[in-house]
Amino acid sequence: MGVPDPNKELVNKKGIRLDGRKADQIRPISIEAGVLHRADGSAYLEWGGNKVICAVYGPRELNPKRFQESDKAVVQVRYGMSAFSTSDRKRPGPDRRSQEISKVIADAFENVVLTEKFPRGAIDVQVQVLEAAAGTRCAALTCAAVALADAGIPMKGLISAVAAGKCNDHIILDLMQEEDNYGNADLPVGVNHTTGEIVLLQMDGHLSPAEFEKALDLAVAGNQQVVQVQREALMKRFHATLDAQEVA
Ligand code: ADP
Repeated sequence: MGVPDPNKELVNKKGIRLDGRKADQIRPISIEAGVLHRADGSAYLEWGGNKVICAVYGPRELNPKRFQESDKAVVQVRYGMSAFSTSDRKRPGPDRRSQEISKVIADAFENVVLTEKFPRGAIDVQVQVLEAAAGTRCAALTCAAVALADAGIPMKGLISAVAAGKCNDHIILDLMQEEDNYGNADLPVGVNHTTGEIVLLQMDGHLSPAEFEKALDLAVAGNQQVVQVQREALMKRFHATLDAQEVA
């Protein structure tokens, strides 16, 4: 989140945003599962201007052994942004932001993956942002959930994430780049669609308690739109697999 600019009209008087969306609309989103043949599970996602690819490996034995947990698997997430993913070339390699995002995504999946089924194991999730346009942590988590399901990793439910925020006194869903840069607040929210639990909740900027409640409700409702696209991607993938097995 950049410096808020109260003079920049990000939402007009009719409540329409710079890209023509209403407050409660998400950007166009598409997901394809099973795009990488050497990974155990994978997915590719496009969401607004974001392009994200995810590969899942495992469950396998965690090495070195000193990192093993005797009663469960460890979900290891590596979120990275390619040097060419932003308008200014991003310095390649891990930085504090990518470590933070990797950790919050890993924490979200630790709550959802049935890790106790794989003691001493590791499940590796590698997410690469090829093009970034705000909301990449939500895009990465959403893409990773499909890749984990594609890998057949048992989970308590499918999870997705989308941000809500505040611009020009409007509470809006799924911030685009200008809204993220010049708006007042950004609230990424991840939801487990089976249990209804919140699995990711962060906040950048300022919201009153009433605004926070409104933004949270908007993000939770927005996640219903996102999970629909995840489910369609998985249905398509499993139908394609079944068709291939019938031919063989
Ligand atoms: P998120 O991508 O989850 O919204 P941030 O709020 O940290 O996370 O970043 C907002 C947006 O700012 C990113 O999606 C990306 O478009 C841009 N951005 C982030 N880091 C950099 C960077 N190092 N260089 C240029 N742009 C960046």
